[in-house]
Amino acid sequence: MTGATSIAYLKGVGTKKGAILREAGMVTLDDLFDYFPRRYLDRSAMKSISSLADGETVTVVGTVIKTQLDGDSPGRARFKAWLGDQTGVLELTWFRGVRYFSRSVVQGDSLAVHGKVSYFGHHAQMQHPDYDRLTPDLIESRNGECSDFELYNTGKIIPLYPTNEAMKQAGLGSKSLRTLIARAFELCTPGKEENLTSSMLADNNLLPLAEAYREMHFPSSHEQLARARYRMKWTELFYAQLLFALRHSEIRRNRAAVKFTHSGEVTQKLYATLPFALTEAQKTAVREIYRDLRSGSPMNRLLQGDVGSGKTIVAMFAMALAVDNGLQAAFMAPTEILAVQHYLVMKRLFNPLGLQVGLVTGRQRKKERQEVLAALGSGELHIAVGTHAMIEPGVSYATLGLVIIDEQHRFGVLQRKAFQEKAIHPHVLLMTATPIPRTLTMGVFGDLDVSVIRQMPVGRIPVRTIVRSEEEKGKVYDFLRAEIAKGRQGYIVYPLVEESEKMDLKAAVESYQELSSTLFADLRSGLIHGQLSPDEKESVMEQFRRGEIDLLVGTTVIEVGVDVPNATVMVIEHAERFGLAQLHQLRGRVGRGEHRSTCFLLYAKMSADARERLSAMESTTDGFLISEIDAKIRGAGNILGKEQSGTLSGLRVADLNKDFDIMQSARAAAFRIVEEDGQLRSAEHVMIRECYVRQYHDRFTLADIG
Ligand code: ADP
Ligand code: MG
Repeated sequence: MTGATSIAYLKGVGTKKGAILREAGMVTLDDLFDYFPRRYLDRSAMKSISSLADGETVTVVGTVIKTQLDGDSPGRARFKAWLGDQTGVLELTWFRGVRYFSRSVVQGDSLAVHGKVSYFGHHAQMQHPDYDRLTPDLIESRNGECSDFELYNTGKIIPLYPTNEAMKQAGLGSKSLRTLIARAFELCTPGKEENLTSSMLADNNLLPLAEAYREMHFPSSHEQLARARYRMKWTELFYAQLLFALRHSEIRRNRAAVKFTHSGEVTQKLYATLPFALTEAQKTAVREIYRDLRSGSPMNRLLQGDVGSGKTIVAMFAMALAVDNGLQAAFMAPTEILAVQHYLVMKRLFNPLGLQVGLVTGRQRKKERQEVLAALGSGELHIAVGTHAMIEPGVSYATLGLVIIDEQHRFGVLQRKAFQEKAIHPHVLLMTATPIPRTLTMGVFGDLDVSVIRQMPVGRIPVRTIVRSEEEKGKVYDFLRAEIAKGRQGYIVYPLVEESEKMDLKAAVESYQELSSTLFADLRSGLIHGQLSPDEKESVMEQFRRGEIDLLVGTTVIEVGVDVPNATVMVIEHAERFGLAQLHQLRGRVGRGEHRSTCFLLYAKMSADARERLSAMESTTDGFLISEIDAKIRGAGNILGKEQSGTLSGLRVADLNKDFDIMQSARAAAFRIVEEDGQLRSAEHVMIRECYVRQYHDRFTLADIG
């Protein structure tokens, strides 16, 4: 028998159970071995309710006798459940995520709860306990007393396996799974074939794979279990990082890019004519980029920096170096309006240096477009700025050497590839104003080199952020009006989410109609939302930019990076419905000029999570800090869109939120072996390559960014 043997060979797995297990991803014995417990119950920390002492952290097993939901005003709601065993009753309380817990914990449930005990008079209590629902097969109910729970065969640490509804229905609870796994262990030992080198095991003090498998399923002690989990996480992260290391080396090694050897006139003049001094962070980024451009290998770098941190000028220094080396540079932005904005900025700075800058967009007049394409093809243009129209099949560049993609997350993989194919191994700089925590950068963009600008240009006045309830809207509007009276401009933004798109849009349009015909009837106001045609949107935005509109009301389309320095007030309605990243992006629309700006976050009903989000907004304007808080609230994996999280979704034991240190260690090892032996051909590394191909490659590249 081998790990590839079907689980159908196991006693107790018939057609029906076999099908349910297959549905849950378990086909072979190996699949079963890799089906790790979701959690472990520590029997030594288990106590009966009457014996609980104030302040101790324990596990209690019992049955939910009764539940109660109190208070319907959000933020004040409470959910209580009373858990009983033979010896007494323990009160469980939730005041965050109340709705979820009130649906999830129901009378009659058998639970193992884990948490800190507190006493109110004679009543033992636990707030926000961790809990596990115990499947009926775990509970051999003689009389439901704690000691009567069947804590079967070995060990005091009891693994709890994840089970879905179908599994539960079929009697495949935690205990049955464990029995099956025990039988599988009798047929074949998992992990006999080690998948890390002996020096990796030694250097990182890792358990051998076979031992780790055994401990994962049948822990002999806390210490051994912890080591087993560490080993499994390390392995998984190692192979994830190996993918990045291989890609990184492939890009850098196999394709020679043009080496930018000259640092000439254009670069120097740009530096000399700059209307401001670069921040230290910008200088560092320029230096890192120049190092890549001069290395002879293609650059593949991600530049992260908050809205307004000055990424464009950094990109322009890279472009200047390209031109100094006789090559063209292209800059792609996600929307027409942004492309035009960048085009104007670049023209203003580059033209005086003798550079020709061209604009390529989908909505240009035909003649204009033909001219610009001809100039690009002949090499007459040095710099091209545009939208995805720049990557259409008919567009060709004479000597494209550098590609810059702004707001990279708004482009798909294919668009990025298409751009790269306009030249032979061009240098690529991706830019993003969505800062993400370092854990994620390393876990998702691990094949890119990363530069970070975490510093705002001097003189920038931070936006003041104020959280207010709907009821205080009147005063907020007064403030808005006063700013407009001073000659400033403002935004009012309404939420629009996919699930309730129509209603949201209607609400936004109606509010606009009402405001513009009553309270703000005397102001010049405009409406913008996703249902307008691109031309209509453009024209409203343009009017706002020229100052012909005082007040722009709209849905989140405003989010896209348009620069109107005279706008100083942003009112976000139903701020509780926005995600943290989105709130931060929206707020970035103000605070871009010489006047102090204010952002009001209005809320109607507030959940605990929303409260956390809004107070994070109030407490900082640092996008990186905000993204870290966001990761804590939502989990790292939820921060990025699905299409960007191929690696993340492939992780089964490791958690980027918690296992950053392990990832760093595994990453270093992965990059080290690829550096030593890029093809993994040495005797020592062959098995690594085989394991990677067999087990991990597909898992991490399924939905990956390619
Ligand atoms: P983002 O990183 O959001 O793309 P931009 O590159 O658009 O930011 O820069 C925002 C504004 O800050 C621009 O008007 C730009 O000219 C200005 N800026 C950039 N760097 C500096 C600096 N070092 N000092 C002062 N102003 C700067
Ligand atoms: Mg920008």
